[in-house]
Amino acid sequence: MSGFSYIRATSVDEALREASAPAAALLAGGTTLFDLAKCGVLQPSKVVDITHVSGLDTLLVGADSLTMGALVKMSRVADEPAVKIKFPAISQALWQAASAQLRNMATIGGNLMQRTRCPYFRDPASFPACNKRAPGSGCSAIGGVTRNHAVLGTSDACIATNPGDLAVALVALDAEIHLGGRRVGVDDFFLLPGSTPDRETAIEAGEMITCVSVPASPIAKRSTYLKVRDRQSYEFAAASAAVGVEFEDDGRTVRDLRVALGGVATKPWRARAVEDALKGKVLEPETVRKASLLAMEGAVSHGDNHYKIDLAPRVVARAILKMGETA
Ligand SMILES: Cc1cc2nc3c(=O)[nH]c(=O)nc-3n(C[C@H](O)[C@H](O)[C@H](O)COP(=O)(O)OP(=O)(O)OC[C@H]3O[C@@H](n4cnc5c(N)ncnc54)[C@H](O)[C@@H]3O)c2cc1C
Ligand code: SF4
Repeated sequence: MSGFSYIRATSVDEALREASAPAAALLAGGTTLFDLAKCGVLQPSKVVDITHVSGLDTLLVGADSLTMGALVKMSRVADEPAVKIKFPAISQALWQAASAQLRNMATIGGNLMQRTRCPYFRDPASFPACNKRAPGSGCSAIGGVTRNHAVLGTSDACIATNPGDLAVALVALDAEIHLGGRRVGVDDFFLLPGSTPDRETAIEAGEMITCVSVPASPIAKRSTYLKVRDRQSYEFAAASAAVGVEFEDDGRTVRDLRVALGGVATKPWRARAVEDALKGKVLEPETVRKASLLAMEGAVSHGDNHYKIDLAPRVVARAILKMGETA
């Protein structure tokens, strides 16, 4: 790991001013930043510690919305009783992310800014070609081992999966990311790789995440997050689904539905075709299974990751049917 200077900021303005230096990086929990610095992906010249910036550690569950400051720890949100009741998909997504130690250290802002687990991206010494790390250098994954790569939202330049869990629940529940002076819908916050996979989010120079807000709703209250992975803990998703549902007064017919997928796409993936297919329907197993196949519209596999095209619709169907049982 190369040397860097260290600054402790006490305000958002100071943090952004210090972070405007070339190759400067914000430091929150450090669980991604130092990981990437150690493997040579990041070589920060200056680390701007934001953990003492006031006003970024508020967690508020109000009547109309949930507000999570950028510095709130993942474990705090996961454990908050009001979040479990009013936004269960968010609590469940965080509970199933990383490990207890990491969740106690890592923050909501840092979690949304985490980078892909593409092994070629994380090993610059062995694989110099990576368009995300070194624009224009090529992609070592295409034609390589792709078991954990994306099948949705890919491009000729990059097929890396967005690995986050929380972001999937936020996309299903129409959250907004606050970037100081402006707010961005979470679906627009994460960018498709296209020809510029190095640009992953809508954050511009001179901006940082200050908080995340999620509207309270019947959908948010009846929501869940289902994660399928190679082992039951301390593992990224092979496929995951965040689902929220609201029923008509008969308690059976779907009034509104939200479906988002994780572990299979280059960004947290909203499955609107599945939502549209099930609105106005009763959640019978066959109807749900058929509609869930629509989640894979446009999917492209690269060999080893083909199993995700079969797996993801099953995960979506299970999550929706689980919500149906609560009707
Ligand atoms: C072994 C391991 C397993 C993991 N498993 C999972 C998993 O299953 N699911 C999952 O979702 N995650 C998983 N993670 C990722 C983990 O959740 C992230 O490392 C963590 O959330 C990052 O938060 P942090 O506060 O430590 O961020 P940091 O490491 O401090 O920062 C991460 C990045 O975000 C930037 N940043 C931090 N705060 C802000 C801000 N407010 N505004 C703008 N930029 C900011 C930093 O500059 C840096 O580039 C795993 C990580 C490890 C190491
Ligand atoms: S998939 Fe993306 S991150 Fe992985 S090597 Fe290719 S360009 Fe890099």
